[in-house]
Amino acid sequence: MGVPTIGCGCKVCLGGDPKNNRTRCSVILGLPEGNLLIDTAPDLRHQLIREQIGIVHSVLYTHEHADHLFGMDDLRLMQFYLGGPITIHCEEIVEERIRKSFDYAFKELPNMHKGAIPKIIFKRIGPTDEPCDEASQSSKTWPKIDILGASITAVRQMHGPNFESLGFRIGNVAYCTDLSEMPESSKAKLKGLDVLILDALRPSGHVTHLSIDQAVELANELGAKQVYLTHMSCEVDYNELDAELPEHISPAYDGLSIPLR
Ligand SMILES: [Zn+2]
Ligand SMILES: [Zn+2]
Ligand SMILES: [Zn+2]
Repeated sequence: MGVPTIGCGCKVCLGGDPKNNRTRCSVILGLPEGNLLIDTAPDLRHQLIREQIGIVHSVLYTHEHADHLFGMDDLRLMQFYLGGPITIHCEEIVEERIRKSFDYAFKELPNMHKGAIPKIIFKRIGPTDEPCDEASQSSKTWPKIDILGASITAVRQMHGPNFESLGFRIGNVAYCTDLSEMPESSKAKLKGLDVLILDALRPSGHVTHLSIDQAVELANELGAKQVYLTHMSCEVDYNELDAELPEHISPAYDGLSIPLR
């Protein structure tokens, strides 16, 4: 929902602490060959301007929920900066949602000026039948995703009982938002992390997200050296939660910058 949340009068929403000002979830990675944006939140324009990031070279999606998708139109400018369409890496279900939700971007409309619509090339990501890593228990495995000079590992996550999302590991850092459960085969890909950014919606349980306690438990099981919690609702006050959490786990906040080593 973002914090402050529309119509909410709680102390976190009204308190004015900048660390409680939460736009919808997204991260951008400075990779060897350019900036990779993970998800296009409805706040995308504001986020890029706030962080003084003038160009996105490629996009990767965790899943197709509205809070991770609906800033996509703001990629319109990138075709001029890149000299052509921007590549979107996503699963089939995400591509289908984008094609439905942004149908105008895929039609030859009369009298449209150049730049009126985002220009996109899809690059499908997904598991293959060829087992390519020994740790995998499943017959289908994910090949590494090569984007902008980096090799990215996708990890399957349960986002509620009937829906799946993807987390991503880039070197020693993993970004795992929007999950209620991490399958065992995915946990195996998340060992030895220096930094884990992990979904933690609120103190109480939720059908599609980890609670704070569940996130801490999973983080401890995975053994990441530093953990940042994300996707938090206004039931979480930054300072109160930061004081309660163990030393190596902190709430994330808008504008947080983490080295990719
Ligand atoms: Zn509130
Ligand atoms: Zn979601
Ligand atoms: Zn979400």
